[in-house]
Amino acid sequence: MWRLLQQIKKVGLVSEPKPAPDATMLQRQLQEQVRRVFGRALAIRQVDAGSCNGCELEIHALHNPYYNLEGAGIHFVASPRHADALLVTGPVSRHMAEALRRTYDATPEPKLVIAAGDCAACGGVFGENTCATIGAVANVVPVDVVVRGCPPTPTALLQGILAAISKRASA
Ligand code: SF4
Repeated sequence: MWRLLQQIKKVGLVSEPKPAPDATMLQRQLQEQVRRVFGRALAIRQVDAGSCNGCELEIHALHNPYYNLEGAGIHFVASPRHADALLVTGPVSRHMAEALRRTYDATPEPKLVIAAGDCAACGGVFGENTCATIGAVANVVPVDVVVRGCPPTPTALLQGILAAISKRASA
């Protein structure tokens, strides 16, 4: 026990600080926009098209109490048939390209596609048109919003989702 306490004292606080107030404001804006544009919850289907899973860790963080995505009326669904938007990560591996196309086709119109992370934007560290990857999500399906970052922060992801909803509102 004593050694554990000494270790805690030595290491200190290692968790990330609370999000800046702009994250809380973003969350409120999202909540208002979802209610205004959809009049119900916004359903997102996440597609890992070859990610290293770094992006997924940040997406996962959106569900913690700080970012509180569900509190904004946004939830993830298991089937593209129930989704309003696709959130796609990764440099689209050749093995996942057809699955991504089919997922896109299975999502009802009008649909939104958010390419999340540098890999989804341009192939990132994996590059484009290699033996294993096609690269940008836009090379496979139409993309509405791109969120840069490797990985993108939860705040950047919230901004990307908000941008996609605003695009739908102005369509
Ligand atoms: S953008 Fe970075 S974190 Fe996301 S899949 Fe690519 S390498 Fe991984």
